[in-house]
Amino acid sequence: MPGFELFGDKERKEVQDVMDSGVLMRYGFDGMRNGHWKTKELENGLSERMQSKYAHLVSSGTAALTVALASAGVGAGDEVIMPTFTFVASFESILAIGAVPILVDIDSTLTLNPDAVEKAITPKTKVVMPVHMCGSMANLGVLKAICDAHGLLLLEDACQAIGGSYNGKPLGSVGDLGCFSFDYVKTITCGEGGAVITNNKSYYENAHMYSDHGHDHIGNNRGAEAHPFLGYNFRISEMNAAVGVAQLARLDEFLAIQKRNYTIIREALSVIPQLEFRSVPEGGEENYSFLSFFMPTEDLAQKTHQALSDNGVDGCFYWYNNNWHYYKKWEHLTEMKSLGKLPKDVQESLPDYSKADFSESDKWMSRNISCLIKLGWSETEVAERAQKMVEAITSVL
Ligand SMILES: *Cc1c(COP(=O)(O)O)cnc(C)c1O
Repeated sequence: MPGFELFGDKERKEVQDVMDSGVLMRYGFDGMRNGHWKTKELENGLSERMQSKYAHLVSSGTAALTVALASAGVGAGDEVIMPTFTFVASFESILAIGAVPILVDIDSTLTLNPDAVEKAITPKTKVVMPVHMCGSMANLGVLKAICDAHGLLLLEDACQAIGGSYNGKPLGSVGDLGCFSFDYVKTITCGEGGAVITNNKSYYENAHMYSDHGHDHIGNNRGAEAHPFLGYNFRISEMNAAVGVAQLARLDEFLAIQKRNYTIIREALSVIPQLEFRSVPEGGEENYSFLSFFMPTEDLAQKTHQALSDNGVDGCFYWYNNNWHYYKKWEHLTEMKSLGKLPKDVQESLPDYSKADFSESDKWMSRNISCLIKLGWSETEVAERAQKMVEAITSVL
């Protein structure tokens, strides 16, 4: 997954352009910037690559989710459906705007189970937020149909799946809004950065204003800009965007390496009949940043995880016990441990997750192992790694 493995001359050149002018801000200073608008360049490149009319860059993927929700008018008391397996940013962004995170089960795709989504819909539901975890996607066709039938927004968190596609469309571009992260460990990185993509002009304009204090960006005099509504500062800097310009240009190169490395390992593991690969919805193409599979039981999954590590295979995750990615360890959410008081709507409406039954999610997550696919491995290294993985997994069976 990590683009940081392959930094080089392209990144250096883009950053040097910004250093030479000294203009680190994305707005203004037209005369000083030697014609360089790295943020705009990256936005144009992204909207083209993601087949979306608009792309707006912000300071992180978490910011992108927050801005996306705000741009569509989601606010206090609205319910947002999200999966039990994701990164904590999902509920952080929902809570940040005073909305209520409604956790629902995942299935063998490791993403939202559409039946569970349908059951969770209430009159307060505004958004369904699938998270394309570990390089593969939710069943977007079914989720879109559900959203259309109930008048809900579909917001794709494609932070971990940039470059994947569904029925030929880039992940992130299928929903009303899509979000990406370019943090340090994502497939392409800016250091810190994120993006919102959409075909909806008004969401785009709202995102643009909201992420810069509500300023309308009309005219060249920054101090004279109007602010039609309240906003915040989620701006990205030109330095970060410059790195992203170089990395986006290399996305297809990175994806090809990931796919090659993934395929070598997957073919090797295919000889183990007890091992079941994560399912990918029909019409979906992963970005191959992880290879995820299920062992027959929780016990065997734990033993496999240990055996992989003992056999020198790093980068394999047992998310079930991970503090960041699975609801079981989100006691800060379930016990509402915030620094100050949470908004009233949240206090009143947040379901009591200590009593929630997510045994369907547990069934998949307790048996799942996800292994990171690195870009820096040579074909020989991948083949050796694949062999070590087969040895480790068969040793516990
Ligand atoms: C990384 C990530 C985010 C947040 O991105 P940041 O840029 O780190 O804020 C959100 N969702 C998912 C699924 C992620 O993996």
